[in-house]
Amino acid sequence: MKKKQAVQAPVQKNDLITAEFEDLTHDGAGVAKIDGYPLFVPYGIPGEKAEIKVIKTKKNYGFGRLMERIEESDDRTDPPCPIYYQCGGCQIQHMTYDAQLRYKQKQVQDAVTRIGGLENVTVHPTIGMKDPWRYRNKAQVPIGTREDGHLKAGFYQKRSHRIIDMEACIIQQKENDDPVQAIKEMADKYNIKAYDEEKHRGTLRHVVTRYAKNTDQLMIVLVTNGPDLPHKKNLIEDIRHGIPNVASIVQNINNKRTNVIFGDKTIVLWGEEYIYDTIGDVKFAISARSFYQVNPAQTKVLYDKALEYAELRGNETVIDAYCGIGTISLFLAQKAKHVYGVEIVPEAVSDAKRNARLNKIDNVDFAVGEAEEVIPWWHKAHGIQPNVIVVDPPRKGCDETLLDTMLSMKPERIVYVSCNPATLARDLKLLEKGGYETKEVQPVDMFPQTTHVECVTWLERKL
Ligand code: SAH
Repeated sequence: MKKKQAVQAPVQKNDLITAEFEDLTHDGAGVAKIDGYPLFVPYGIPGEKAEIKVIKTKKNYGFGRLMERIEESDDRTDPPCPIYYQCGGCQIQHMTYDAQLRYKQKQVQDAVTRIGGLENVTVHPTIGMKDPWRYRNKAQVPIGTREDGHLKAGFYQKRSHRIIDMEACIIQQKENDDPVQAIKEMADKYNIKAYDEEKHRGTLRHVVTRYAKNTDQLMIVLVTNGPDLPHKKNLIEDIRHGIPNVASIVQNINNKRTNVIFGDKTIVLWGEEYIYDTIGDVKFAISARSFYQVNPAQTKVLYDKALEYAELRGNETVIDAYCGIGTISLFLAQKAKHVYGVEIVPEAVSDAKRNARLNKIDNVDFAVGEAEEVIPWWHKAHGIQPNVIVVDPPRKGCDETLLDTMLSMKPERIVYVSCNPATLARDLKLLEKGGYETKEVQPVDMFPQTTHVECVTWLERKL
């Protein structure tokens, strides 16, 4: 089998070739074509000519390493992060921000035409940030042991579980980045051991920090491999006095052999169980494990766009499927008659209900369950007939049952918020077939320096 593959590929492992990059993959690698055979090369940029070493060949495509750039693109820039080429956190720091935004728009455009089969849909230029650095409000940093025995804190190397010790992460807001370093040093001082995932021993697994700029509150979560946290009292005192803005210190216990960061049990060590943040006029309580968008400035842009596309006048019934802690629902409720939100995680629904009370918004109802089950039930048992449906599914897109239900409910408008252009395009195709027209797609850059693409789509029912 292997021999046959090698025969079909026009290049062989270890070949040195010169080629030009024509495109980018969805994970940001350059695509060079050799007699039509695509070679994926990390850090290659379209328009550039380079010397490439062939690393691996498969039947229909291969992988290469960029050895030397012969002609350089204007879209290339020096990545400002000193560990960019080791760390797996960012993928496109070597591209200018303007090129990153064009790349994201093209990703969406390509998916809509190739997967969705839609030729004439307007995909707007990506709305970017003025300053695309220091934007993240949440850091989740694995802790490990350096060769000299001291603690290290940093992200995993690409395709590995080796932690790259870092001094700073420049896509994190400083207020949640600096504390990670401080806690690393404090824990080191008390000789708290890092968790060793191979031996399943040690204490500290992750340090998670969450910062709410609008209220200047910081939450610190220490994820430990069991209930014990040596020198707990001293550590809490050090954190309280050494780190500004701390409003909440919690311990989360995760004693499973797993890549999942959080365990089921969370204990408040000091301060509040929640921190508060605002988006526009709406206030949200956020607990350690709730889903909350990580780029607050762009979240406002995204939700404003969703609201604009929903075109609410005040007398509409709206369904917000996949509602999380009710962020979009509460935003919509200010302009609608009634909003129904549904979400699969029970804690998120409790948060959503609390957030509604916190804002004295009473024209909303939240239910726990699968959107594809709850929404048909609302329709049948309660006669709920939405004018607008907003969906914001995870990467795998909408369940087909839900798409069918939406078609049978015939709302005038559908607003589809998506973090994966491929599944968005697949779902648009089905909705188009069922009588909806895709009017516009607006990509919003929620994750600068990474390949992640978020967008809002506006669909109208054809008469
Ligand atoms: N709209 C929210 C959350 C979006 S993330 C916000 O902007 O903050 C997607 C959410 O869908 C997650 O909270 C996830 O728990 C939820 N989810 C996943 N599958 C689901 C399903 N089948 N039915 C309902 N909710 C689901």
